[in-house]
Amino acid sequence: MTRSITGGWHWPAKMFCYKKPIENSERPEFLTIPLWRGGKASVFAGDWVHAYDVIGYDHCGLPVYAPLAGQVERIEDFPDLVVRPKKIDFPRLTVYLQVSEAQHQPKAVLGAFPRYWEKTRNDLGHRIWEAGIRDLQEPPDIFLLIFNGLDLEPPVSGSIRLLREVPERLIEGMRILMQVHHSVQGRVVLSNDMPDLIERMKVLLTSAVNISVEVVEPKYPQDHRQLLKDNFPGAKSSEVYGMEEIWNIGQAVIEGLPMVSKLCTVWDQTSGQSANLRLPLGITMEQVFKRDLSRYRNIKLILGGLMTGQSYYSPRMPVTPATDGVIMTKDDVSWESNLCINCGECTNICPQGLSPYCLYAAVGECRAEKYSALGLVKCLECGLCSFVCPSRLHLLHQIKVGKAMLKGG
Ligand code: SF4
Ligand code: SF4
Repeated sequence: MTRSITGGWHWPAKMFCYKKPIENSERPEFLTIPLWRGGKASVFAGDWVHAYDVIGYDHCGLPVYAPLAGQVERIEDFPDLVVRPKKIDFPRLTVYLQVSEAQHQPKAVLGAFPRYWEKTRNDLGHRIWEAGIRDLQEPPDIFLLIFNGLDLEPPVSGSIRLLREVPERLIEGMRILMQVHHSVQGRVVLSNDMPDLIERMKVLLTSAVNISVEVVEPKYPQDHRQLLKDNFPGAKSSEVYGMEEIWNIGQAVIEGLPMVSKLCTVWDQTSGQSANLRLPLGITMEQVFKRDLSRYRNIKLILGGLMTGQSYYSPRMPVTPATDGVIMTKDDVSWESNLCINCGECTNICPQGLSPYCLYAAVGECRAEKYSALGLVKCLECGLCSFVCPSRLHLLHQIKVGKAMLKGG
C-alpha cells in the first residue's frame, strides 16, 4: 500500500539532482569550523593538525575533527551573523584552519569493527559518539527504526544518490543501528516514483527479515520526521534516521572513520549549474561557488533546501553537519499584499490540516490563546502555505513569530 499525506506538494523531478553522481569538492585553502552554541576548542592558534585530529567538541560534547591537515590560524567568534539582541544571541566559537598544500591520505583513527555484530550495543554506541555523529553512548531501546530514503524538497538529492551508489553500506549501517537500539523492525521509506530503486532495495533486503521497504507518495513534506513517524501509528516507539547519518555510522563502525564531510546538493540558479558534492565541514559558501560573492548584488544565499533552508547575507557562512543544500538564487523582490482573498489554497495544501491564514491573523493580533487553540505548535514549518499564497502573505514567518512568542522569545 502506498502511504500519503493530505495536502503537500509534488515537485517535478527536474527540480532535483537525482541523476548526478556524488563528486568530491576541490580542496579549499582554509576552513571555518564552527563550535557554536557552547562548543569548546582543544587546539590553540599556531598548532599544526593532521586530517582526522580532534580539534574540539561541539555543544553536545561530540568530538569535532579536522577534515584536512593544516595550521590553526586563529580561534575566535564568527563575526558575520546578523546582530541579535543579547538575550537571543549565542556563542560562536570558530576554529579557522589554513589548509596545507601537502595532504597525506588520512588513516582510520578509531580502529575498524568489520565484524560489528560481535560487538555490544554499548561498544557500537560509543563508536558512533567517538566519530562525532550522535551521542548513543547509552542507547535507548526503540521498537521501530524508520530509514528515510526520501528527498522531496528541491534541490536536495543526497539520500537518493547514496541509495543508488552505496546501498550495501547503507544496509550495514541500518543493521548496526538495529543492533544499537535492540530494534524489532526497520522500514526503509522510498518514494513510489522510483520503481527501479524500490526493486533494487527489495532484492538487497531479501535476507534481512526485520527490515522492509515502505512506499509513499512523493509529496513534500512527507519526509518530515514527524510525518514519517505518524505513518506508523501502531509502533511502540520509533526513531527516524536519514541516509547520510546511516552512511556516516557505517563508515565509523566498519572503517573506523570519523565524520569530517557533508554531502550537499549545490545549486547555482544564476548559472543553472547543480551538483551533488561531498564537502569538507567548514567550507564556506564562497568557496563552494568559487567566486568572490561580496561583489554580487541581488542574490540570495541559502543553506538547506528551497523551502526550509535558512537564508544568509554572509558568503562566509560555513557548511555544518546540518547542511544538506547550498543554494544561490536570484533575489526577486518579495512583496506582501495585505489582502487575503480567501482562496483557501493555504488550508488545502497544509499537511497538518491547519488554517494558516487564521494563525497569521491571530499572531498579528497577539492573541496567544487563539493561535494556541488553532494548533500553531503543530506547524511543521514546511513553508507550503507561503509558497502557494497568491497574495504572497508571509504566513510561515508570522507563524514562526507566534512560536517564538509562545516560548517567551
Ligand atoms: S501552516 Fe505550517 S505545516 Fe501548514 S503549510 Fe504552513 S508551514 Fe506547512
Ligand atoms: S492562500 Fe493566501 S490569499 Fe489564499 S486564503 Fe491563504 S492567506 Fe488568503
